[in-house]
Amino acid sequence: MLDIVLYGEPILIQKAQEIKEFDHDLEKLAGDMHDAMKRDHGIGLAAPQVGASKRLFVVGLDNEPLRIFINPRIVAMSEKTSEYEEGCLSFPGLYFTVVRPSAVDIEALDIRGKPFRLSADGLLARVIQHEYDHLDGILFIDRVSPAKRRRALAHYSRMLNM
Ligand SMILES: [Zn+2]
Repeated sequence: MLDIVLYGEPILIQKAQEIKEFDHDLEKLAGDMHDAMKRDHGIGLAAPQVGASKRLFVVGLDNEPLRIFINPRIVAMSEKTSEYEEGCLSFPGLYFTVVRPSAVDIEALDIRGKPFRLSADGLLARVIQHEYDHLDGILFIDRVSPAKRRRALAHYSRMLNM
């Protein structure tokens, strides 16, 4: 089972590498990420969170099939935004409200390298944007005001020391 990389590890703030080989290793990585996500009760997980600098994330909402996004690009975002309380497997126990566009269009490759496009709204759009950010080394604490970020990190470090 893959371990989840926690906040503080440099890989979480680095830009991940484009995927060029669609082989058995990639399938295994995606499958192992899915298992780790479910084990930790997550609904999304990006490769940097398991220590792999690759542009790949998985999404597993309840009652939906596993979705895999490789070398994704968000090609459109709604002007309308929404608020939602987010968590992140790399920040266990930390939750706070993040404002993001309500809907996005994303283009990506599937596990065999075949392109697809998806229009998402609601929770799916939310998770896609959170995981997509991970591939660029952007964390959910980077999506709030500096004051809120400081409070969140102070709260998180207190929690870790408990
Ligand atoms: Zn996350």
